[in-house]
Amino acid sequence: MEGLPDLGQEPESGIEEAPEGRILTVVHRRRERDGRLVDEAKRRALKRDGKLVCQACRFDFARSYGVAGAGIIECHHTRPLHTLAPGEITHVSDLALLCANCHRVVHASRPWLTLMQLRDAIASAVATLPSLSLDADAEPPPVQL
Ligand SMILES: [Zn+2]
Ligand SMILES: [Zn+2]
Repeated sequence: MEGLPDLGQEPESGIEEAPEGRILTVVHRRRERDGRLVDEAKRRALKRDGKLVCQACRFDFARSYGVAGAGIIECHHTRPLHTLAPGEITHVSDLALLCANCHRVVHASRPWLTLMQLRDAIASAVATLPSLSLDADAEPPPVQL
């Protein structure tokens, strides 16, 4: 077992699922970095929208970071590896372009969130945001450590 990452030392929560889930995530992310499908997905999005924006939250790297952010977007396979038959071909339509934050959130849940679930999560989080108040007596937000 030398040279393999130690996946046996998980904290209590999720101890049953975490190791396999982590391996799946690693394989999944490697697949996302490989191949020309990613380039093709970006090319299609640019042609369609004229820009690369997160398909969940609409974050636009170029808009926020200017030239430094141009062309940056992450690519997520919407069909998890374990749901594919051996040798099954991935299509461009199986890819979702996501910002780094949304991509992280997708992979933080088991099973991974779908694009629709991610959009719903964003929408319901926004809907429950407290409205900004200039009231001096308002309670400050709790500090998160
Ligand atoms: Zn996003
Ligand atoms: Zn992914």
